[in-house]
Amino acid sequence: MRVATFPAADKEKLFIPCTKATISRKQSFGKAKAANMSTSDGATGSKQARLVNNHNSKDLNGTTSGGDAVNARDKVALITGITGQDGSYLAEFLLKKNYEVHGIIRRASTFNTTRIEHLYADPKAHKGGRMKLHYGDMTDSSSLVKIINMVKPTEIYNLAAQSHVKVSFDLSEYTAEVDAVGTLRILDAIRTCGMEKSVKFYQASTSELYGKVVETPQNEQTPFYPRSPYACAKMYGFWIVINYREAYDMFACNGILFNHESPRRGENFVTRKITRSVAKILLNQMEFFELGNLDSKRDWGHASDYVEAMWMMLQRDAPADFVIATGETHSVREFVEAAFKHIGREITWRGKGIEEVGVERNTDIVRVRINPKYFRPTEVDLLQGDASKAKRELNWTPKVSFLELVSDMMNADIELMKKNPIA
Ligand code: NAP
Ligand code: GDP
Repeated sequence: MRVATFPAADKEKLFIPCTKATISRKQSFGKAKAANMSTSDGATGSKQARLVNNHNSKDLNGTTSGGDAVNARDKVALITGITGQDGSYLAEFLLKKNYEVHGIIRRASTFNTTRIEHLYADPKAHKGGRMKLHYGDMTDSSSLVKIINMVKPTEIYNLAAQSHVKVSFDLSEYTAEVDAVGTLRILDAIRTCGMEKSVKFYQASTSELYGKVVETPQNEQTPFYPRSPYACAKMYGFWIVINYREAYDMFACNGILFNHESPRRGENFVTRKITRSVAKILLNQMEFFELGNLDSKRDWGHASDYVEAMWMMLQRDAPADFVIATGETHSVREFVEAAFKHIGREITWRGKGIEEVGVERNTDIVRVRINPKYFRPTEVDLLQGDASKAKRELNWTPKVSFLELVSDMMNADIELMKKNPIA
């Protein structure tokens, strides 16, 4: 019995459109292989390997697709959190690989699609192309069931989360709803649609699970010690993925990704806060900015490298969990120094504790101050990943170095602040 949560009549209703997807894993993985062979005209997979999408689907633009059309059903990705940093890079990456990309977006009072606008065929009209958006929410099971049932994805990337560690101390219950129970909801939605044997599932797990680290560097065997409501919620997500993999034989993977950044990183993460502020200082739009703990260390990579690893995990024949990291660690202080160096200025540090300041060497102007409001009740002092399993089994290695990451973010923020100083 696959469907436990719906009465018999509804079960039938839900189940019918799913039947084509209820193929055996063996068949389904064979199809995935065929789908990887793109033809020169951009079509993917063999004709025999295609499934008829015999129901209509409506995207947010009101465009109706499907009906009697035969879709290339082999490479259909559903991304939760498509409007976020990683979701936008992943959507770009999958579209280049000829996937049909569906994304779940939540209703907001302002546009929250800035990071993916360039992926519409007609960006000015927010229309068209192979990217389709659907309203849904990780706190709303029925929306997840409806979307999965309609889209019939072959791969699901669960990236949606309340992803800010500091904010999770203020919104602890909501963080658990989205990051922990949300993961359970989507796994159950897959089962409700009878697709647990045909869908490959990626879970955005995190190095925050290592928290108060018990060894360095951290690898897949390192015990967890979460240090925030965010990390505790993600810990539930991590284990429920493994439980569903073992209980229901699902192809479900955890990517234990260390911090990854980019010009699209949320503005209140430390790297982006630094590059935005230093760009404003360069353009005389700001005199100084405030930070919290300068000494915490992170293993920072580039998001564009990391989304490729997500995809690679789902192209394997068997599911497994992987650490994705650069293997290097740098302090917040070093990130500040590198960002200033990019604009040809040198920062030196004076004082101690909350009195410490970052001073520009030539001018003696204070550019960085400490504000305790950015301290966390419990801190993660040091993260440094060991991604040798990913190198060995996925042939994945990061391409962008620490200094290239800083440069990429600085260049983008300088351009942004030139165009829009109040950004
Ligand atoms: P992000 O930029 O904060 O994006 C989060 C996405 O989740 C956004 O699209 C957001 O929508 C969506 N979202 C939030 N709450 C939701 C809800 N209730 N229902 C549906 N969607 C919701 O995060 P990211 O940096 O791209 O990270 C992607 C995933 O990887 C997250 O799960 C994060 O926790 C995890 N992760 C990130 C890192 C990192 O260093 N970036 C490291 C390890 C793991 P809005 O745009 O509407 O806000
Ligand atoms: P996290 O690793 O997911 O928590 O990513 P963040 O970019 O939010 O924080 C990375 C580290 O920078 C943490 O140890 C923070 O305590 C530290 N940090 C220092 N000052 C700040 C700040 O002003 N904002 C943020 N977000 N983090 C800061």
